[in-house]
Amino acid sequence: MTESDSRVPSPSYLAANNLYLDTAATEAADPDVVKAMVPYMLQEFGNPASVHTQGKLAAATLHQAREEVARHLGARTANVIFTSGGTESDNLAIKGIAMGMAARERNMSVSNDSESSPAAQARNEIVISAVEHPAVKESAYWLERNCGFRVLTVPVDAVGRVSLTALKTMVNHRTVLVSVMLANNEVGTIQAIRQISDIAHSCGAVMHTDAVQAAGLIPIDMAALGVDALSISGHKFGTPKGIGVLLLRSSLPYEALISGGGQERGVRSGTQNVAAAVAMAVGLRKSCRHMVSQSRDLANSARALADAVKQSVPNVQLTGDWENRLPGHVSMVFSDVSAEALLVELDVRGISCSSGSACAVGHMEASQTLIAMGFDRVSSKNSLRLTFRHPLTPAQIKWIVEILQASLSALTPKRHHITHE
Ligand code: PLP
Repeated sequence: MTESDSRVPSPSYLAANNLYLDTAATEAADPDVVKAMVPYMLQEFGNPASVHTQGKLAAATLHQAREEVARHLGARTANVIFTSGGTESDNLAIKGIAMGMAARERNMSVSNDSESSPAAQARNEIVISAVEHPAVKESAYWLERNCGFRVLTVPVDAVGRVSLTALKTMVNHRTVLVSVMLANNEVGTIQAIRQISDIAHSCGAVMHTDAVQAAGLIPIDMAALGVDALSISGHKFGTPKGIGVLLLRSSLPYEALISGGGQERGVRSGTQNVAAAVAMAVGLRKSCRHMVSQSRDLANSARALADAVKQSVPNVQLTGDWENRLPGHVSMVFSDVSAEALLVELDVRGISCSSGSACAVGHMEASQTLIAMGFDRVSSKNSLRLTFRHPLTPAQIKWIVEILQASLSALTPKRHHITHE
């Protein structure tokens, strides 16, 4: 399970006249990660459940990968469940934990019969933040529609931070699960997860965090965060797409959503993808190796880019929390330019980036995250997100600002740019 020592080609998003600034959506697989996977598809291809030598080799590799993933995430080896990505990890966490807790309470009330505690029976509320990714939000609402749970949404402030005061009033003996993301995909805000976990646990609720955007950029330590479950996705830090991990505290009540042979502690049945587990271990190893200096450089690039945009572009407002923020993440809204049109203009000029809003059949929808942060509907449709996992040079920052100015001029010819001599 070693990395290849061959030279890594320079990422395509640093090519001249073309910048890929959408790493929060995905990025290229790391050649070292891909090379590390290959032997486990071609030579050591065994099924970890088989008793023969090939099976035992696969099981040993899987175990090694699990140990390494746990080590990089401050978790125990037994906590690591390999999945197909962030969406699956979030679904398994929200639905499986809520249903597991409900089943445990049903069993407790049956065994205690009439003496069962009313408080225990009443745990059917799921608290999520107003800025969760759809993988969490839709999983919670699915439980509300289909399984009798109730979803409560905790508000955020103008920079996207969860209100701890509001959270304290919402979490109580009826709360089964609290899910708040570690870092926001649209505006980069990092949440106070340790404090949120403490609030959840003070009422006996389970705490999950979606750490998909944070993984590979900031240290993740399951124990220090105090969470019971945590989701990550490999394609945000160099694995191919379709590879994820759910960290799940072993003693949690859990109702399996995928039934079968009982692999992955029965949480996620199905023959394990050993090569994908290796990719996850190597991807985390590589991104953790230089994380401190890399993150500092990314944060400096983001600050420099944000300052340059603010100085040179009128009618723009930076979004998110600039104190507690994902490195390599710059987000903004425009009061007078459609994000949909702006993305096309930027793309034509060589910048690939995205908006926080979802594009539904040809038209941009307002970002629920920005609305929750207090932006009006128009601004919430006009957001721009520039994300990168390699520091930008001063020349690249200058070029991005020039392209942004040219794109805005093409859309609003009467706009006056701020010029600096
Ligand atoms: N959660 C967050 C915060 C995300 O940003 C994403 C994807 O962008 C996901 C979950 C879903 O991850 P995946 O693409 O691996 O399904």
